[in-house]
Amino acid sequence: MATLSFWGGVGTVTGSKYLIETKRGRVLIDCGLFQGLKELRERNWQDPPFDPRSLNSVLITHAHIDHTGYLPRLVKLGFKGPVFCSRGTADLLKIMLPDSARLQEEDASYRNRHNLTKHSPALPLYTEEDARETLDLMQPQPNNGDLSPIAPGIRAGFSIAGHIFGSSLVLVEIEGAGTDGAGRRVLFSGDLGHYDQPIIRDPVAPPACDYMLVESTYGDRLHDPEDPKIALARIINETVERGGVLLVPAFAIGRTQELIYFIRELEEEGQIPVLPVRVDSPMAAAATQAYQRRPEEHDEDYTSVLARNRQPLRTRSMITAASREESKRLNDERGTRIIISASGMMTGGRVLHHAQRFLPDEKNTILFVGYQAAGTIGRRILDGDREVSIFKHPIPVRCRVERIGGFSAHADWQEVLRWLKGMPSAPRRSFTTHGEPQAAEAMAEHIRQHFGWRVDAPRYAESVELE
Ligand SMILES: [Zn+2]
Repeated sequence: MATLSFWGGVGTVTGSKYLIETKRGRVLIDCGLFQGLKELRERNWQDPPFDPRSLNSVLITHAHIDHTGYLPRLVKLGFKGPVFCSRGTADLLKIMLPDSARLQEEDASYRNRHNLTKHSPALPLYTEEDARETLDLMQPQPNNGDLSPIAPGIRAGFSIAGHIFGSSLVLVEIEGAGTDGAGRRVLFSGDLGHYDQPIIRDPVAPPACDYMLVESTYGDRLHDPEDPKIALARIINETVERGGVLLVPAFAIGRTQELIYFIRELEEEGQIPVLPVRVDSPMAAAATQAYQRRPEEHDEDYTSVLARNRQPLRTRSMITAASREESKRLNDERGTRIIISASGMMTGGRVLHHAQRFLPDEKNTILFVGYQAAGTIGRRILDGDREVSIFKHPIPVRCRVERIGGFSAHADWQEVLRWLKGMPSAPRRSFTTHGEPQAAEAMAEHIRQHFGWRVDAPRYAESVELE
């Protein structure tokens, strides 16, 4: 007998945490931070519903903070076991977890300086040192589906999920868990990729399993049908005609590399002129290097570019500014160019310095390529505000404002069905996770209608017996 409990990533897209317990072992699948609404974020501060010291191991589907950002907290609370994930995920976590810790520490010090805390002094959820300790526990695995032991009586395997670099489907096999004494297999889709994304491979077909958790971020929506590459070419060419600068706020890991990949292709195809491309973000510089190191994650297009002796993640005239000095040097440049900088929603980072300089001039363009959450500077500009406050200065927005909606790292509901068609046989029971309540319910209904499987959208803290 085994039990599966849902401690996050249900009723919301954040905080993913699923616990498998048997008489012999306890394993946590994903260890995400809750983000967004205050009542969700407060869960990060509550005692976890299981003793971190009692876990044999943690398995990670992919590096995004809503799947990994609670790991250093778990370690701070006494977890000392191995953390299993793909090699690509381990590479990205070396960049992301220390950064997440820095944000936690900055947040605590901000609350202390401004007396915004009931607890004095306010403490960070975890520190950079906790993040470093967490990285010491990583045990990277091949992303090829091979099963290996991860706890007494439990094996697990990772295979390509096509969501972001290194992302995995995780299959967990529990010895003798069934009432018939046979083993039981539980498949975690993690976040499932959008088919035909540049650079990374498409999700592999789901392996046979008894129980399945499938994500439902887009359970009730379909992607914008606009081809992002064509839209990008149009926006670049229009900015060139006006002799302006194209500023793109972009998440440093994933979206930045996709943009570089598309700009290089457009240059090679002669659809845009060769322009100076400036990637101004230390995290983006580190992530781009990580991307280049793992050929097992690359799709056929990427490999064929390499075979032509071209660097897939380099445009003809590109400078990546990792250090502050390199970033400052970019300020002296003049003329039409493309600047890609983080953070993607303009909540901080170097992009704000560029925005201060370029927003007031109507020759320039600001281009949004990702979701802009309510309350962020990015959202205000996108909503048409003619003035925004940056570093407490009012900045007029006179430049052109563009948005490309077709970029996405998630499968929409039709793509999830496409993926599920590859399932060799019906699972006994399935669960839709990682969606707002409406999306998770809609995804469950799509699966019932198309396959007739038993599928539910579980609630927070729900437990089921894996019989
Ligand atoms: Zn994700």
